[in-house]
Amino acid sequence: MPEKTKITSAWQTALTQLDNVAKIMMLTEDVHQLLRNFERILTVSIPIRMDNGSLRVFNGFRVQHNSARGPYKGGVRYHPELTLDDLKALAMEMTWKCSLVGVPFGGAKGGIICNSKTLSKGELERLTRRYTYAIMPIIGIGKDIPAPDVNTNEQIMAWMMDTYSMNNGYCTPGIVTGKPVNIGGSLGRTDATGLGITFTIANAIKSKKMNFKGLKVVIQGYGNVGSTVGKLLSEMGCKIVAVSSSKGGVYNPKGLNHNALMKYYKEHGSFENFPNAESITNASLLELPCDVLVPAAMGNQVTKENADKIRARLIVEGANGPITPEADQILKERKIPVIPDILANAGGVIVSYFEWVQDVQCYFWCEHEVNAKLNNILDRSYEEVFQLSQEKKTNLRTAAMILAVKKVVDAIQVRGLYP
Ligand code: NAD
Repeated sequence: MPEKTKITSAWQTALTQLDNVAKIMMLTEDVHQLLRNFERILTVSIPIRMDNGSLRVFNGFRVQHNSARGPYKGGVRYHPELTLDDLKALAMEMTWKCSLVGVPFGGAKGGIICNSKTLSKGELERLTRRYTYAIMPIIGIGKDIPAPDVNTNEQIMAWMMDTYSMNNGYCTPGIVTGKPVNIGGSLGRTDATGLGITFTIANAIKSKKMNFKGLKVVIQGYGNVGSTVGKLLSEMGCKIVAVSSSKGGVYNPKGLNHNALMKYYKEHGSFENFPNAESITNASLLELPCDVLVPAAMGNQVTKENADKIRARLIVEGANGPITPEADQILKERKIPVIPDILANAGGVIVSYFEWVQDVQCYFWCEHEVNAKLNNILDRSYEEVFQLSQEKKTNLRTAAMILAVKKVVDAIQVRGLYP
């Protein structure tokens, strides 16, 4: 089934990962084809009135990959370079992520091509509300539940929830996750992805018989995910030796102070000239000697060009798709274990699921309960992936993909083909 159109690397990565496991699992051609394709892709145009009185039309999408195991679930991204191919890759990855950790959702992703940083608050609100209205026919509590992603946040989720509720005729908190807590958001959601990554690192450290104390950690991207990991690992006695933002990073082999980093970034908008640290580029940060490398920024950061130069003992994928398939192969040959994104960063979607469950039941849990349930799911998922990788003598990504794809295939098969 060769693709006829030119495809971007994120989508290529997603397809290659699926094709590789399809071969190992000896999937039938029928099922393989179903999984390579999408149940629905909606393109919408979003006209809004700008503050200066002019009218501007933006383009938006909602991509629904597979709903064999449950309603679609996935974030909404606002980015000037967003492409439909990116969203296809991310939606497919959501199907595998939900399946792997046993969350009863399928995969989706959406977004708008826009530079949200150049829009006023009013323009951003009008854009969000009109986008929500445009995708309303295909979203719903039992249909498709959006969430925040890059450049969207709980305020944007609140506008989405309000727009849907107004059109629906009654308050419908369960339509989105990642909302503010006072309108049905879940305690623990903001830190869930970073906390999940920390639980997963703890499991990997245990199985590699490494010691937590003094562990040297490098984090690319010190945003919501990266900085939560940095904070939690610092509290556990690890040394955060390097961090970065899109403008570059800083390195100190003796360790950086998390609170000082956060304060400095808030004041200066970058880590440039952070005291007692060496300035480094994002590319050189990836090649620093360390125990754990957490790429928590963008996709396709470790490629065949730099995979040979990685000096980490363990890589934990905080971002979605930060390692290309060619780089994955090189790391496998170099025996550098990689905890794949669909396991490592699943904390976000797990707590999003908890949020949805709480909204549907109108019964809310304390943060301790949320975190304990998250820990249970991630411990179980890590154990399943680790055991299968040992059994099949394969890397953790392949094991995770086999487990995830199998549950989706089983659901497709038992449901049968309509009509
Ligand atoms: P964020 O916007 O809060 O932080 C991203 C960080 O990466 C920022 O520090 C930014 O400056 C930096 N960055 C951007 N481009 C960069 C580049 N080219 N090189 C280095 N750094 C760069 O986003 P986030 O919510 O922390 O998400 C980070 C990654 O994790 C994304 O890939 C996202 O898809 C993934 N992810 C997030 C969640 C979640 O719950 N937030 C869940 C799963 C996966």
